[in-house]
Order: sequence, then C-alpha cells, then structure tokens
Amino acid sequence: ANPLVIAGASYAGVQLAATARELGFAERIILIGDEAHLPYQRPPLSKGVLTGKTTLDQLPLRGAGFYEENGIELMLGRRANALDLHARRVALDDGSTLDYGWFALAVGARCRPVTLPGVDLEGVFNLRTLDDALNVAQAADRCQRACIIGGGFIGLEVASALRARGIAVTVIEAQRRLLMRAFPLRMSDYIEGAHRSRGTEVLTGRGVRALHGLQGRVAAVELDDGARVDCDLVVFGIGVLPNVELARDAGLTVDNGIVVDMLGRSSAPQVLAVGDVANMARPPAPGEPARARLESIQAANDGAKAAASLLIGHEQPCTAVPWFWSDQFNLKFQMAGLPQPGDHAVLRGDMAGDRFSCFYLRDGVLVAAHSVNKPSDHIQSRKLIGAGVRLSADQLADESFDLRKVAI
Ligand code: FAD
Repeated sequence: ANPLVIAGASYAGVQLAATARELGFAERIILIGDEAHLPYQRPPLSKGVLTGKTTLDQLPLRGAGFYEENGIELMLGRRANALDLHARRVALDDGSTLDYGWFALAVGARCRPVTLPGVDLEGVFNLRTLDDALNVAQAADRCQRACIIGGGFIGLEVASALRARGIAVTVIEAQRRLLMRAFPLRMSDYIEGAHRSRGTEVLTGRGVRALHGLQGRVAAVELDDGARVDCDLVVFGIGVLPNVELARDAGLTVDNGIVVDMLGRSSAPQVLAVGDVANMARPPAPGEPARARLESIQAANDGAKAAASLLIGHEQPCTAVPWFWSDQFNLKFQMAGLPQPGDHAVLRGDMAGDRFSCFYLRDGVLVAAHSVNKPSDHIQSRKLIGAGVRLSADQLADESFDLRKVAI
C-alpha cells in the first residue's frame, strides 16, 4: 500500500484529498490537521464571523460525513513533526509514524510574529484561525475603539466589520498607502476614500512603536512619532509567513515557501506542496514572475487539483488565472490576474458610485482586472485574461462594449 499522507487539513489539503478520490486514486488517504475543528472556511473569519452574519454551522468546508464516505482518514488535533525522505516516513507529535507513498505539505501560513512592547496585553489579537476570530468577536462585544495595525485585505475587512458594529476604528498602515502590494495608486486611493467616508480613521506611512495598557488591558497604540491612539482592541493584519519548517528541516528547496512546479512537485521525490505554503511555478507570462506564492482560496484549490492529477498519472498542470475576492462594507472586490507596475490601467464604470472595474493592459493584452460590485466584469475578465485577448483601452472603457461578445 502506498498511502497519500497530507499534512494540513484546510483548503489545500481537503481539496487534494477530495480530488484525488474523485479522480479514482485508490490508496489510503490520511489527512492530518493540527487544529481541533472540522476543516473550515477562513474568509468569513474577518467578515461574517465578526459581524455575526455567519454562524459557526456555516463554516465547515465539507460536512462531517464527507470524509468517511470518501475514505479520507481525518486525524485532527495532530501535528506532523518531521519528515524522513529516505524512509518515506512522517513522524507525528504523539510519537507515532506514518509511511507514505506520497506526502503532501498543505500546512499553510501563520501570522507574522509581532515583537512590539505590549503585544501580550489583553485585547490584542492576530487573525488566522477560527479560535482567533472567536476571540476577536468576543472582545468586540465590549469594545468602543479599535486599532487595526496593517492596511492589507484582512486588516481592512476587520475594520469594515467592526465599523458595521458601530465601533470607532483606526487603521494604521506603515506603507504610504493602503494595499500597496496588491493595488496601484488609483485603487489604493479609492479604498482609502471608501473607508474614510464610512467613518474609519486611516493613518498611512505611520509605524507603531508600542502598545500601552491599563490594568493588563490594551488602552493605546503609540505611533513612531510618539502620538497615541486610544483603543480597547487591537488587531494585527501585517501578513503571514509560510510554514516551511517541516520542509526545510527535511532538506526540501525552500524560497519564500516550498518551491514546486505546476503540478505541486517539490525538490524531493513523491513529496508535494500546495496552497499558501507553496511557491508554485506559473505559466510563462511577459513581465510576470516565473513563480508565485499566492495566498488565496483559488490558488489552494487549483494547485491541489493539479497535484491530484499527478497522483493518478493524468497530469494537468495548474495554469489557472489567479483570482481573489474581498468584502468590505457593501463593496465586493474581485481581482483577477497579477497586475505589474507599468501596466496601463483603464477605468470602466462609475468609481464614485462604487460600481466599476479597473482593467490592466500590457502591450495591448488584457492581463488583470480589479472589479468593485461588477461580478460580470470579473467573470468575463477571467476568461479574457486566460485567453490572452488583445483589447484597446477605448473598448474597455466603453460600458456599451459588451465584454461577453469578445471572441476568445
Ligand atoms: P491554511 O488555510 O493556512 O491551512 C493550513 C492548515 O495546516 C492549518 O489548519 C494549520 O494549522 C495546519 N498545519 C500547519 N502545520 C501543520 C503540521 N505540521 N501538521 C498538521 N497540520 C498543520 N482568501 C481568499 O481567496 N478570499 C478571501 O476573502 C480570504 N479571506 C481570508 C480571511 C482571513 C481571516 C484569512 C486568515 C485568510 C483569508 N484568505 C482569503 C486566504 C485563504 O484563507 C488562504 O489562502 C487559504 O486558507 C490557504 O489554504 P491552505 O490550505 O494552503 O492553508
């Protein structure tokens, strides 16, 4: 027997197990996850779980019966501690070992550690797991003023969820604008305006020096110029680090994640990596990196499907157009492709009315699109980007030009 052993029971791990079975992989599948909960959805943790719109019973990725019905042996509350490539064996934290035919690392990422003075005060949180989200939601019940440190997607989603609960919110971002890594200036300006107009205070280009408390609870954030922002809740959203230790200790090639090809193959035979932990090769595209570690549900699912195809010897490399979404207030952001500095941005629709898309052309080819409350533009742009279609700026800007009629 040559079991597939998967470490990490979240999007990537569950999808790999599910698709492997769907495609007819007949060996044992053992899915090991160190969290106690049935594998669950993470996006609602910074959205509906904080506003109360999402209930706990809505969170599981698959029903409890799914695993048994598909012969997926789920081992929860268990950690893979060491990988022996030579013996093809994984050691678990309870001292047991598992021999594998295939081993997959779907161990994801963790919040970047914070070392500031005062981080241990009560009322200071990171947000990655369901337990984190429940702690933030509970603290928000008693909160009047929150500081969100980090103006990326998660920080901004938390900010909007807390505003929706009537809490005063300050977002503190060290870069000179919000979402600098993902968005060009125009989109950053738009999103900053969207938050300000809904009552959020936004401080950009400001570092944090320390957190201060009162009787053990956080009471203020001290900025790098000595100014203080009073608050009774702090949430950090300053990015994640891929969980590469298991792979690195085993000798796999690691460089901003575990380095894998378009099928999820690592540098070691029979060892795969998928999801947030994987730095995956991409189909060649002018001006874009040859590989990327994408932190999204889409990348986890599509990467896992590609890896599953390898297991049954019917290789289908991952060539999907990357896409991502974020919900803030009444704004649904949907992003496709990987825009690069220098791409020509074209606006279509009504930015002031919160219904528009920003398209990105590179040498006349549509390469990316950011849509706000324009789901049809998003769906269409994914198809057009995948097909490498040439379009003019005038066509894209003209709302009467029907994107669905563009020949692919
Ligand atoms: P993870 O979900 O990180 O899962 C890895 C699992 O492995 C974890 O349960 C971890 O505890 C476990 N693990 C780690 N080490 C071991 C070990 N040694 N042994 C056993 N288990 C181990 N993406 C979107 O596309 N849209 C969104 O709107 C969105 N919102 C998000 C909101 C929040 C609050 C967060 C935190 C993320 C959000 N994301 C969103 C990102 C998305 O959740 C991740 O890209 C996705 O979860 C990656 O899946 P993964 O399976 O690779 O890793």
